[in-house]
Amino acid sequence: MEDISLIINQLGEERDLYYQAVSPPIMQTSNFAFKDFASMRSTFEDEYAGDYIYTKAKNPTVDMLRLKLAALQGAEDALVTNSGSSAIFCSILANVKAGDHIISVRQPYSWARNMFEVVLPKFNITHTYVDGKDIRNFEEALQENTTLIYLESPNSFSFELQDLEAVGNFASARGITTIIDNSYCTPLFQNPHAYGIDLCLHSATKYISGHSDTVAGVITGSKARLKKIFDSELSNSGTSLSPFNAWLLLRGLRTLPIRLKHITESTMALLPFLKNHPKIEKVIFPFDTDFPQYELARKQMTGACGLLTIVLPPVSYEQIEQFATGLKHFLLAVSWGGHESLVMPKAAGIRPENYDSNNEEHRMVRLYIGLESVEELQEDLTQALEVIS
Ligand SMILES: *Cc1c(COP(=O)(O)O)cnc(C)c1O
Repeated sequence: MEDISLIINQLGEERDLYYQAVSPPIMQTSNFAFKDFASMRSTFEDEYAGDYIYTKAKNPTVDMLRLKLAALQGAEDALVTNSGSSAIFCSILANVKAGDHIISVRQPYSWARNMFEVVLPKFNITHTYVDGKDIRNFEEALQENTTLIYLESPNSFSFELQDLEAVGNFASARGITTIIDNSYCTPLFQNPHAYGIDLCLHSATKYISGHSDTVAGVITGSKARLKKIFDSELSNSGTSLSPFNAWLLLRGLRTLPIRLKHITESTMALLPFLKNHPKIEKVIFPFDTDFPQYELARKQMTGACGLLTIVLPPVSYEQIEQFATGLKHFLLAVSWGGHESLVMPKAAGIRPENYDSNNEEHRMVRLYIGLESVEELQEDLTQALEVIS
């Protein structure tokens, strides 16, 4: 079953098991009873492939979600976790041992960075950050003990891409495991497995949930790789997803394609306005024809929407604050992928005394285009940009 609409609407919906209810039930139970001793014994041998024992490991509501997400991402299987951060934690930890070296794209998502800089050094695991735009930088960073390459394409603030085909070939020729944070694209807009990337991660908190009410993560890949994570890191950290949150994600998933379609249309409608606005120096968005890696984006991504970064001209710290808080429809908040538009200025993470208006990065403001009408959003941006002299 490869048709997206059928995966979302039909795959795994076994209504004979629950009174033909159209919406699947939430299997709210911690444990499952066995009919006999022999089936308990055989399930203990392989919990990953076997029957249900305990919801910390497996649950039918969660499994319905896993089935759909694996099919959407074109993978053998999917694991779902209680946050995108725990998906990062489990998948990285499962693929390193003491003394290993990791190559990661520079400025990965903050909790991946914390893994590399705080958690893994405790086990003598080192890392090198590279500018992932050029495959030669991966070659240069390669060490004898490099066992893992960590990607995020596009990055969710700078939108830098990596050539997934080139990195996939480079890594598989050397037996190096590859992990990508694929949150921005969702399974609908990019399939890194097709380029030989081993594990795809998502923060399902974002587009997959789509309603700003659930925190969750996804890991997709081969059964062999996921069994390894399931048997150890996922079970040991106890970070699997709850049945209720799985049910919320199933509900969010129903409208994922139409939400992305709507947000794509809104983003493309706002793009020329943002690019031509005199108070905006630059717009960073992968599907903008002026984006430096536009060709690559078009090659490996089938869509891009919602999240983009604007660079304000050399303004004061106060003006960035006034612009961000002057917006009425864009909430000042982290995250993205929900129904509501959001604004996140880079300057909010910088102390005023350290702010440098000559530094382009300090003037970056990330916008998330939600489901509000384009007219309202454009009007709001127009009035808020007036504070900038
Ligand atoms: C939000 C986010 C994460 C982390 O996901 P949580 O569900 O918040 O733990 C990872 N990567 C990217 C790109 C994100 O935007």
